[in-house]
Order: sequence, then C-alpha cells, then structure tokens
Amino acid sequence: MASSNGLASSPFEGSGFEHVVRENEPLGPMTWLKIGGPARYFAEPTSEDQLVQILKHCSQLGIPVRLIGGGSNLLVREAGFDGMVISLSAPAFSGISITSNRIRCGCGAKLSHLIAHAVGVGLGGLEHLVGIPGTVGGALHANASTLNGDIGQRVLYARLLTSAGEPIERSSEKLHFATGKSGLDELVILDCEFQLEPANIKTLTNRMQTLWIVKRANQPITSVACAIPFIDPITCSAANLIEQAGLKGASEGAVQLSAAHPNYLIANSGATSDQVLALIDRAMSSVYKLTGVQLQLHLRIW
Ligand SMILES: Cc1cc2nc3c(=O)[nH]c(=O)nc-3n(C[C@H](O)[C@H](O)[C@H](O)COP(=O)(O)OP(=O)(O)OC[C@H]3O[C@@H](n4cnc5c(N)ncnc54)[C@H](O)[C@@H]3O)c2cc1C
Repeated sequence: MASSNGLASSPFEGSGFEHVVRENEPLGPMTWLKIGGPARYFAEPTSEDQLVQILKHCSQLGIPVRLIGGGSNLLVREAGFDGMVISLSAPAFSGISITSNRIRCGCGAKLSHLIAHAVGVGLGGLEHLVGIPGTVGGALHANASTLNGDIGQRVLYARLLTSAGEPIERSSEKLHFATGKSGLDELVILDCEFQLEPANIKTLTNRMQTLWIVKRANQPITSVACAIPFIDPITCSAANLIEQAGLKGASEGAVQLSAAHPNYLIANSGATSDQVLALIDRAMSSVYKLTGVQLQLHLRIW
C-alpha cells in the first residue's frame, strides 16, 4: 500500500484501532532473555472487542498473529517476527473473580497474582506453582508445572479465540494438557476457570513460602537473563542429561548453560539469539549421541 506522499502506509490505517498498533516494536526487552529482533506490528488491545477486530483484520490481510505474555518462555530470532504480536497486558484481560471454590482469571494476569489471590481467600491447588514467572496465558500454553503437579490439573474450561477472532469454549479434557505443552497452539487464550479446594489460609501461606524458597534455590537468581530450554523427559531430568553429556556450564559466545542449574540458559551481555540456537542444537545432539534421548524444547522460538 502506498500513500499520496509515496511512502508505504500501514495496513491498519483507517481500521479504527490504528492507535493501538505500533510498527517495528523491539521484542527483546519484553522477554527474559532480552535478545531478538522486532515485531513488524505490535498491539496492546484495551478490550475483547478490539482484540477480536484486530484478529479479524489480520486474518483478512493474511498477517500472522502471535500472543506474548511475560516473555519468560520465549526466544525471538534476530530477524524478529514478520507479523502481529499481541499483548493482553490491559486490565480488561487480567480480571480475577471467585465463586465458591472456583476462580475465573483473565489470561493476561500474572500467574503470581492468581496464586496470591487464591491463597489469600483460602483456596488451595495452585500454590505449588509459586515462583514461575509470566502470565496465566503463558502458563496454560506450556502447562506450567513443578514436581508437585501442573496447572492443567486445576483447569475446568478455557475461553479462546481462533486466529480469525471466532470464539470457542473448551473443557479441560479438550485442552490436551501434557508435559510442557497443551493443545492451545494457534489459539488466543482469553480466560479460564480453575477448580480449587478450601484450605486454611495460614497453612497455605506457609506452604507457598516454603515452596518459594525451594524454587529460588533451584534456579539462577531472577535478575539474570535466563530461560528453561528443555522439557524434562518422563524418566529423567534434562539437567542430568546435560550434565552427563559434559555440557554443564558450556557456552556459545555469551550464552551459557548454567553450571549450577544446567537446564537454564543464561544470556550474558552481548548474547545473540543465534548463539542460543547454536547452544540448544549442540545440547540436543550431544545428549542424543550419548544417551539416545531426544530432548524436547520447552522454550518457544519465534
Ligand atoms: C527463572 C524461570 C523459572 C521458570 N520456572 C518454571 C517452572 O518451574 N515450571 C515451568 O513450567 N516453567 C517455568 N519457567 C518457564 C516459563 O516461566 C513458563 O513457561 C511460563 O508459564 C511462560 O509464561 P509467559 O507469560 O512468560 O509466556 P511467554 O514466554 O510470553 O509465551 C510463551 C508461549 O505462550 C504463548 N502465550 C502466552 N500467552 C498466551 C495467550 N494468552 N494465548 C495464547 N498463547 C499465549 C506465547 O505465544 C508463546 O508461544 C521458568 C522460566 C524462568 C525464566
């Protein structure tokens, strides 16, 4: 598209929501790894209606769409993403409401807020997920988990949108939660309802605090740019496999597999997405050659 001054005009001009769309938005700062290129288009819709309009518009123009949450499970390639990236960071997508033992939560809410809310009203079942960064949407997408269980176990249903903006509702069995993944690829997760159990607030708070201390001791300090590259295979831990392959502390350029917690990638100053990809490839092929185990990616790569 070209305007009268000869410059290419935005495909969102005149759409009614052009004020919420930005172009060539750097994505690195929105991710925990702090690296990677820009999104061709980026939007933070302020209502569900606006989100649906953006999805429909992108679908009609053939512009691919992806959702970003807290960016704690995301590597963006150097080239960035040639499409629309949407963030559900507006208050319209982060409401939390309680009816009896059920909590309904918008998927833009931080997982930590949901857990604190549940514990604060004496509802147990999510507190073991304390310390996992990111949003509820991101947690559902990768079925966030700890040794004490996963988020999918507590989900009753989720409200979703297709990439063309059509609404769908799915009960938990149709969300296909599995280790490190769900059946939610290609869908926008809007909100969901959790079934929890009444419990003593003080007991829940103590449990959450203890789990938080354990979690912090088992990961790099949270000020570090880091991410979990691999899913733990069913019978062993990815960290042990990396260690067996002699890759504890291994690096490519400024990117390293942590020496203390080998299933964490650390991006030091000067790190690039290409270095992360090279280190991931090296770890996967070394572990496979040595053990025959094919590591599966936990990190989403755009
Ligand atoms: C220090 C650290 C500790 C961690 N500990 C754990 C842990 O104990 N257990 C664990 O399971 N994970 C852990 N993770 C990984 C990560 O925090 C989780 O996967 C988290 O749930 C990702 O959420 P996010 O909002 O940051 O997702 P993002 O990184 O923003 O996105 C990840 C994927 O989810 C999709 N997505 C996000 N929101 C939506 C939405 N509303 N609709 C559709 N798709 C969406 C994105 O498109 C992308 O494909 C850890 C990561 C770090 C850095």
